[in-house]
Amino acid sequence: MEATIVSVGNELLSGQTLNSNLTYIAERLQSLGIFVREAYTIKDDESLIHKALSNVETPLVLFTGGLGPTRDDMTKESICRYYDLPLVKHEPTLEKIEKYFARSGRTMRKTNIKQAFFPDGADILVNNVGTAPGMILSIEDKTIVTLPGPPKEMMSMFEEVEKHLKPFGDADFYRDGFRLVGRGESELEADLEDFYPAHPEVEIASYANLGEIKYLFIAKDESKLEAALADFKRRMKKYIVGSFDETLEGNVVGALKAQGKVVSFAESCTGGMLTSRLVDVPGASSVMKESYILYSNEAKNRQLGVSPKLLEEYGAVSDQAVYEMAYRLGKKTSADLSISVSGIAGPKGGSEDKPVGTVYFGVHAGGVTKTFHRVFSGDRSMIRQRAVVHALYLLYKALVPDED
Ligand code: AMP
Ligand code: MG
Repeated sequence: MEATIVSVGNELLSGQTLNSNLTYIAERLQSLGIFVREAYTIKDDESLIHKALSNVETPLVLFTGGLGPTRDDMTKESICRYYDLPLVKHEPTLEKIEKYFARSGRTMRKTNIKQAFFPDGADILVNNVGTAPGMILSIEDKTIVTLPGPPKEMMSMFEEVEKHLKPFGDADFYRDGFRLVGRGESELEADLEDFYPAHPEVEIASYANLGEIKYLFIAKDESKLEAALADFKRRMKKYIVGSFDETLEGNVVGALKAQGKVVSFAESCTGGMLTSRLVDVPGASSVMKESYILYSNEAKNRQLGVSPKLLEEYGAVSDQAVYEMAYRLGKKTSADLSISVSGIAGPKGGSEDKPVGTVYFGVHAGGVTKTFHRVFSGDRSMIRQRAVVHALYLLYKALVPDED
């Protein structure tokens, strides 16, 4: 089954708001076996909503945005006028909105009343985090879903939407995949040249994002999917850091927890981003005790005792520097794994033998210190994010070595 997404909102077309609802909904639909054929992003304008409806060719249409109480929010009203459907008051919804205001100590405005009006026969999607309920409406040969624009409100309804839409999905379709780090997308594609023809009945798509590459496999036949997954794993295990739906940092925290280990970081060019990404995972407190942002040479010396002479001789971005940082961090914190990162994020500071994007990593674990280095591309922010991903990759591989 295919679907169309219509994102409604002036703010989406004036550059104020990123259309994150589109990517979220498309991904959730795909996991149900519903594939988005087209997406429209339009202003809050009735004629544009009607134009989108008359263009839509898929049996399923999902709208987001324009369900608010204000005059410019008109998605539901426009849809109903398109189909000539009267709106009727839905008492339980009105009560819910009234209660929502009472709970937050505010008075309900008259304008909110319109949010409790729906066409007869629509299934109402309760909004537990805001006042704009959604709906699912079957009309003519279409199923139309309306969802609020605020991403939190939209997402909070999605489980309910999935329950309704499950029967529309490709029933006998299987999906799974991997998340990889440590090798570029074009290198991976070259490695996989003979892999694709070996699995013609499996649809394979890759998505690269700042050092992480996801591969999604979709097949009608479960055994064909399993065979492709096993083949891919055998070839790529060095770079695999988890399955498609997992996160790198989540898997790192999971592995640390499972092994009862604690980690510490000494960050230079990443400036705390590595620590922040790990701490984003609920339960990180049991695996992370302390980290240091050691940006200057003076700080590297004062906090960890890295000798100024060594930093002078080899530079702060060097094998020697990250070795000392990781080793001394391990001694200082007694963490099971200690990671150091030092690099040149640019735009200035590069040289011929250490261009912008050069990042060194130190990993101290089990009494052994190893160093690594990479040269990342992109601007300052991209280099820093790629360095964070690579540090998490090294950490993950130190925790979960490839079985051979
Ligand atoms: P609404 O009142 O339903 O039109 O929703 C408006 C709010 O939702 C605004 O704060 C928008 O920035 C946000 N919003 C609307 N559409 C989207 C979208 N497609 N992706 C992300 N945020 C959105
Ligand atoms: Mg709006």
